[in-house]
Amino acid sequence: MLAERPRYIEIGCKSVLNRVSGMPFDWSINPYRGCFHRCVFCYARRTHTFLDQNGKDDWGSTIFVKTNAAAVIRAELAKPTWLGEHVAIGTATDPYQSAEGSYRITRAILIELTRARTPAHIITRSPLVIRDSDVLQDLARAAGVSVAFSLPTLNAELAKKIEPTVAPPAQRLRAMRTLAKAGIRTGIAIAPVLPFLTDSVDELRAVYRAAADNGASFAWDGVLNLGEIARDTYFEFLRTYYPELVDRYNALYAGKYPAATYTKTVQSRARIARSGISFDPPEGIVSTPARVQLSLI
Ligand code: SF4
Repeated sequence: MLAERPRYIEIGCKSVLNRVSGMPFDWSINPYRGCFHRCVFCYARRTHTFLDQNGKDDWGSTIFVKTNAAAVIRAELAKPTWLGEHVAIGTATDPYQSAEGSYRITRAILIELTRARTPAHIITRSPLVIRDSDVLQDLARAAGVSVAFSLPTLNAELAKKIEPTVAPPAQRLRAMRTLAKAGIRTGIAIAPVLPFLTDSVDELRAVYRAAADNGASFAWDGVLNLGEIARDTYFEFLRTYYPELVDRYNALYAGKYPAATYTKTVQSRARIARSGISFDPPEGIVSTPARVQLSLI
């Protein structure tokens, strides 16, 4: 069944650049609030409650669009205090969700970053990002840019259950290859690794292998966290499709994070899974701001 078209609410924002600490980037940008992709594990859902919205049901159906974002960031980047530090785009929303097709807020922000010679890292699940290859090439030359595709699995059937409105894995890989061919530094995030569903060495290796074969210059993985709201939506998914796993998850997740021994096991499997796979930048990559690797969505 197709998801209903979301309701878009246009808002004016006071700032676009958000200061971040304790992360491998200095600032974050989220052109939208809410996300049509409605991933069952999305921890960013909780941010909707800051706007008095329901993070479970409204997250994918009521999207706030920061229509003045380009003008606001232009002023922010023009301040003498701006140091041109790394920004991450899409830490709490997908900057290339369907709204971007018509609103073009992310594209306008990238143009401003290019003018201000500010390096950026984009996190997305959407092939729509290839529409902006031209702007990304400009930014790559001016300051550096990289694009991470979130890709938890190659299994299209499972992907449809966990990321209902996201393009299938094969389409994301094709988009990554297209960007890499255009000289843009790209990679993947196996985000998140799902206990008992996608955490085997074979499953992880298949994703790493596919990424390397499709132009990835970097790749990383991160185990599922289940904070508030995400716990509800994820368990709803489990009860619907994998009821036999509910007790195992309850045992593994006493709180937001899985048991530490489990996380270590997955890290060790991931090391084995990616051994022998090279993520060297393909020839022609314009820029490599290697500092930014995100352990986010
Ligand atoms: S995980 Fe990312 S793509 Fe999925 S709903 Fe959340 S913000 Fe959107």
